[in-house]
Amino acid sequence: MTKITSLPADDQRCGWYHLSPSRQPRPGHSGQRSARWVIVGAGFTGLAAARQLALNFPDEEVLLIEAQEVGFGTSGRNAGFAIDLPHDIGADDYIGDIATARTSLQLNLMGQDLLKELVRQHGIDCQLKACGKYQAAVENRGIAVLDAYRRGLDKLGQEYRMIEEAELPSHIGTGFYRQALFTPGTVLIQPAALVKGLADSLPANVTLYENTPITEVDYGERVQLRHGRGSISAERLILTNNAFGMSFGFLKGRMLPIFTYASLSRPLNDEEQARLGGKPYWGLIPADPFGTTVRRTPDNRLLIRNSFSFNPDGRSNPRYLARAIARHRESFARRFPMLPGVDLEFTWGGALALSRNHLGYFGQLAPNVYGALCCNGLGVTRGTVTGKLLADWLAGEKSELIDFLRESPGPNPNPPQPFLSMGVNANLSWGQYRAGRES
Ligand SMILES: Cc1cc2nc3c(=O)[nH]c(=O)nc-3n(C[C@H](O)[C@H](O)[C@H](O)COP(=O)(O)OP(=O)(O)OC[C@H]3O[C@@H](n4cnc5c(N)ncnc54)[C@H](O)[C@@H]3O)c2cc1C
Repeated sequence: MTKITSLPADDQRCGWYHLSPSRQPRPGHSGQRSARWVIVGAGFTGLAAARQLALNFPDEEVLLIEAQEVGFGTSGRNAGFAIDLPHDIGADDYIGDIATARTSLQLNLMGQDLLKELVRQHGIDCQLKACGKYQAAVENRGIAVLDAYRRGLDKLGQEYRMIEEAELPSHIGTGFYRQALFTPGTVLIQPAALVKGLADSLPANVTLYENTPITEVDYGERVQLRHGRGSISAERLILTNNAFGMSFGFLKGRMLPIFTYASLSRPLNDEEQARLGGKPYWGLIPADPFGTTVRRTPDNRLLIRNSFSFNPDGRSNPRYLARAIARHRESFARRFPMLPGVDLEFTWGGALALSRNHLGYFGQLAPNVYGALCCNGLGVTRGTVTGKLLADWLAGEKSELIDFLRESPGPNPNPPQPFLSMGVNANLSWGQYRAGRES
């Protein structure tokens, strides 16, 4: 029997969650149940896997189990970029091997298309805007990154536009950045509104149990899952709970539960919007991976995302949250000096599952246990597509994309503790310091 020692415990201050339409969470499970398919984790990956399994096996029931409420976990806490383009931070031109980059692009586009189609089909109100993204730089290091990425995009044959300092305020209001690389394919969303809408439009043969943290698991011919109010017996278990997959006994010492943090301002009034200028909504990611992501939302709030912490238990820590609030205020003031009276109304954190080689896991973990885990900070599109393809593979489907995911070596091992914590914390501090004004 495996005791699940790490359970998700996110903070209460996620702006997306509070600002998205409220819904009635599905009741938690109690008593005994058994099913052929049981999925643990109802983020982008689990929601996509449940939907596709239900479509592939219309006469079978799929149980989807979530520890918290849908929209409250990381899938509802991110910056809302459904990104199309690959960005391999280990390669000189951020594209690297061209065949791998093409397949990654295909996967991301498939994830994006699935989400766009579901939003359209079910009328999900999630502020979806196909408005592209700016990748912007302030420091010389960042300018060099944009230049290298431009060469990579040429190699991949992808459209982009370089925008210089003088022109940037007409796009994003602020004159803070020296240069940006605009790519048109990214779609922006309100993530909590999207996952809530996905949960409420699941096929009829999916039963979603929210607020049901699995606390014990027994592997065998059937997998027995236990929680505070009962147990569930599964013929096949599918793990889509990202770094928490480690507490189920898989990929131990291969994923890193790293938290990152975001804030949303109060809405800008008409006069503040005029003072800011630029387009009515946009999204910007930093050239330096340790820099700051910024968005102007369609409801006229500004989002700031930066700061990282290593939380080995995958749970929120109030000390790190307080530090992020202070950093976000500074980052906001540097970029928006024309908006001195605008407060940050919400600040929250969320767990990423990162691996040292930036690869995720897809496939069979043990007899009767499967997983799509470790989205490496790109789970909106990647989680969606890997969840769907895992369900297709379980239905016996074959494709080049499935082969590509199955053949991936997956996350590589981390060094042991205490070297791991020392190394990760030193890397995070150094990266954040080196980001300079881009933070
Ligand atoms: C601030 C921030 C900004 C980000 N920005 C972006 C972005 O712009 N674009 C992008 O693509 N990605 C972004 N990410 C990353 C993205 O949110 C993740 O990659 C994505 O959420 C992964 O989806 P998932 O479904 O695989 O896992 P998760 O969203 O982590 O879902 C896993 C679920 O499993 C549940 N669970 C865990 N253990 C148990 C258990 N024992 N029992 C039952 N349920 C359990 C959890 O409660 C959770 O809801 C960001 C993340 C953060 C924190």
